[in-house]
Amino acid sequence: MVNCMLMISADLENLTNLQPQGGCDDPNFSYFFKLKCGCGELSQKETCVSLAETLPTQGGKGTTNLIQKCKFCGREGTVTMIPGRGKPLTQEAAQSGGFSPLMLFDCRGYEPVDFVFGVGWKVESVSFYSCPFPIVFEH
Ligand SMILES: [Zn+2]
Repeated sequence: MVNCMLMISADLENLTNLQPQGGCDDPNFSYFFKLKCGCGELSQKETCVSLAETLPTQGGKGTTNLIQKCKFCGREGTVTMIPGRGKPLTQEAAQSGGFSPLMLFDCRGYEPVDFVFGVGWKVESVSFYSCPFPIVFEH
């Protein structure tokens, strides 16, 4: 089991509080990324997870947000989102080159890589911002 915190950074000019539209725990905000299996196989397509979409885990204890089987080794892995850990990216943090935590993923069997910047962000006092934002997973 690996806990991966998705961290964001951005070049914020006259902007602050960059976050998903409904806040860091927006149930409808979709996260897109590729998954790397423990066997080293990288999934071909991006996976999409959101807090609103849950699946029952095997054995019926609790829920997860993604169950995916590796095409190469056949093992099943899960990704479970853990809300309540994210913070909007403030201008202060962005200016000091800092990253802000966005969402925590509890990954079993997989490691998330290559986060894809999707839609549905909001930022306060918009004048200009540059994309793409550097986004990293801290393992
Ligand atoms: Zn595999």
